[in-house]
Amino acid sequence: MTTKIRGIIFDLDDTLFDCTGQLTQPARRRAAQILASAHPDLSIETGYQQQVLLSQTHGSSEAIRILGTQYNIPPNIIEKALNAYNPRNVEAIAPFPDVLPTLATLVQRGYQIALVTSGNPDRQREKVRLLGLCNYFTETDNTLILHDDQKSSDKQPSLAQAAKALSLPHAQILCIGDKLTDEIATAKTLGMTTVHMHHGRQKNRKPQTPTEKPDIEIDRISQLLSLLP
Ligand SMILES: [Mg+2]
Repeated sequence: MTTKIRGIIFDLDDTLFDCTGQLTQPARRRAAQILASAHPDLSIETGYQQQVLLSQTHGSSEAIRILGTQYNIPPNIIEKALNAYNPRNVEAIAPFPDVLPTLATLVQRGYQIALVTSGNPDRQREKVRLLGLCNYFTETDNTLILHDDQKSSDKQPSLAQAAKALSLPHAQILCIGDKLTDEIATAKTLGMTTVHMHHGRQKNRKPQTPTEKPDIEIDRISQLLSLLP
């Protein structure tokens, strides 16, 4: 299945680093603390668990707004919680330990690589820098595509743009990500081979449609080395 592969498109959050553990969980706790301080019946733990639940259907920021509204928390406090969730500066983060050696080996073996990440472009750019990935992915040659999720939730044009930057037909590209609803379904629709990284929010999600079913499942990035000789 992977013998024809010549290029790889990576996702960033929860694929190349532990975004859930390093950023999402502490951020939700900060937001929960602020909301809980404004309502006697809301504990930090409930505020945290409710964000986890609500974010599955509404996204993380909207989850904070809904929760705040449910508890009649004043808009300025909700705003403070949102700022605590999404601080301007990205905290200290590190890639999964096997990521940098794996990327080096893949490049050495002749694979072309690109990174497509969605979110706030400034924030995602800063993550790429802090993770030490600038040597591999740059905006100048489109091997780094920062997909602005406020403009569109559909990652498809960004994946197609990355494929174009690699100058490879979609059939020769492997796309790897942690979200079945996002990277997997989108890349599969484009005719790429798909790899699901078991991490983060959709770790235990079962495919809901045929397009959400990945071709390959992995638990760590270094497993790519046995798939791609
Ligand atoms: Mg991700």
